[in-house]
Amino acid sequence: MGYLTDAMSAFHALSNLRGPESVSDMTYSEKLKDPRWQRLRLELMEAAGWMCQECGSLTKTLEIHHIVYLRCDPWDYPRHLYQVLCCDCHDERQELTDKAVGALRLAIAKVHTQILVRRVQDICAQAMLAIEFQS
Ligand SMILES: [Zn+2]
Repeated sequence: MGYLTDAMSAFHALSNLRGPESVSDMTYSEKLKDPRWQRLRLELMEAAGWMCQECGSLTKTLEIHHIVYLRCDPWDYPRHLYQVLCCDCHDERQELTDKAVGALRLAIAKVHTQILVRRVQDICAQAMLAIEFQS
């Protein structure tokens, strides 16, 4: 489902490696108090049956994971880029993601930018295929 879209999201994410960017004067933590975010997170949790989408817990505190960070407000992402996770799964996912991004940054550190520009889309598409084959 939507692997091309996911690859494009990954491509977009690679140009946003510094993390969530402010598109207004609000800080990221202020944005998480915004009613638009509060409403959306409840909608997403409701749609997930108030269950962690990773471990299935119905009792742990739920949080919303942004699968990639885009240059837009936290509530303006396409729906497939959110995941409802319990606090433990969210921590683990965030840690693994940080490690993967760190490894990727190391892997591409010596590659000339002009070569990267041409190759990043291919690399993302291949990464998404690799993940698809593993699941
Ligand atoms: Zn969980």
